[in-house]
Amino acid sequence: MINKAFNILNQKILIIIFSFCIFTVCFSIAAVYSNRIIFAETDKFEDMEIESVMRNYDNYNVAAYYPITKNRQVNRQIKDFIMSCVSQAENDARYYMPKSKDEKLNLLIEYNFERINKDIVSFVFVVCYTDNKSINRYDIASASYNLKSGKAVSMKSFFENSDYTAALCEKSKEYFLNNSSLDSKVSGYFIDDISNSGAGSFDGYSFSRDYLSIYFNSNKISSKYQQIIEVQIPWSSLKHLLKKNIYLPESSYEAAAEVFTSYDEESNLYFPAFNINVESDDKVIALTFDDGPHSVYTDRILKHLGKNNIVATFFVLGNRLNYSKDLLTRMVDLGCEIGNHSLSHKQLTAVSDKEIVNQIESVNNEVKNITGYSIRAVRPPYGASDKRVKKIINKPIVLWSIDPEDWKYRDPEIIKNHVLSRVGSGDIILLHDIYKSSADAAIMIIDELLSQGYKFLTVSQMLELEDESTNGIVFTHKK
Ligand code: ZN
Repeated sequence: MINKAFNILNQKILIIIFSFCIFTVCFSIAAVYSNRIIFAETDKFEDMEIESVMRNYDNYNVAAYYPITKNRQVNRQIKDFIMSCVSQAENDARYYMPKSKDEKLNLLIEYNFERINKDIVSFVFVVCYTDNKSINRYDIASASYNLKSGKAVSMKSFFENSDYTAALCEKSKEYFLNNSSLDSKVSGYFIDDISNSGAGSFDGYSFSRDYLSIYFNSNKISSKYQQIIEVQIPWSSLKHLLKKNIYLPESSYEAAAEVFTSYDEESNLYFPAFNINVESDDKVIALTFDDGPHSVYTDRILKHLGKNNIVATFFVLGNRLNYSKDLLTRMVDLGCEIGNHSLSHKQLTAVSDKEIVNQIESVNNEVKNITGYSIRAVRPPYGASDKRVKKIINKPIVLWSIDPEDWKYRDPEIIKNHVLSRVGSGDIILLHDIYKSSADAAIMIIDELLSQGYKFLTVSQMLELEDESTNGIVFTHKK
């Protein structure tokens, strides 16, 4: 039954992805060929934002991320694709019968993007379904656009004639033949597949300034293989096949050294940046915001915190940090705390040890690189932790005592009333700074609690009052 539901789900999702790709191809046929394409260095994240869809129901979770570009037409196509995957998963979750109480269907959509100049951007989406412990299905969808015209860009836009497919097939086969780190069964499969189906064996492609990438999804061989293989083919090696209107970068590419904000390795500074005096009879509260930062709503919340000279804690997602560096800096300047909410909102109890480390460490490092401060508190996605997760995280796990389910009830009044009717000294309030209704509610909650004389603390300040700053504990509120 479960498998059957999954198969139906997979088929439908494949159809959605297929339609999306067909749509892209149709669009690109109409694309203008004569325009010049000039490869140019560009700030990858300029004019780019990230949006997310988060759901947390009894038998399924959704964490889907998608880009927001400066072109509305492109944004609409991408959002339609994401939402069709999400609503398909929601429909099919109705037929999903978990074997135990803590088994859930998970839909995770992540993406990466590359650009060859300010206008031409390639997106690669990875759609991943799991039913708790095992990964059932990975799919890839890719699309490239000209953000100026809103039109799709295909491989054809770059090549003089159709010879290029044979060249790309040859280079891909070469990669599989020579890459000894790949499973030999996987390599063998793709070598045969490319020989038989040519470019039909490509599962996606993207363009960056320096190379054309072709993606192969090993999951289509068997669910045992969960790797997406990216074959990077330098444009310089395809020069003879390119159109005359293609202008490759002048100099050969050299990887720019990563520039990090300098911080003193020896003196470990921890969040928050400054302390607040608390008397024993003070009423205290900690506001916490998950799943952000968000360029609009986090900004509004920070402005309101700053205006009132109070602090909150932001449990950030690692995959949003490149879009939000200035927001993180502002959090530090206000004395707020930044906590770790994982890289991409995976349910940590359902992934391998190695993946837990990746989901947590990458955020610790990135936040430290951007702000100079070290993360002290972790809030695992869905609040889900067990002995293994706690041991690997090895930091205090901070949950909450008041949850208005603001991701579900998108009404500031309902959210505000839920919180204010329950709140007491020592509570930790859970909100999400990615919704307008939550930002509106937060502002009303702050005003009311200030008038009631509450002192606002970060979660680490609350932990200190409770003398509970031990690693691996689960903290929900000050008693
Ligand atoms: Zn979350």
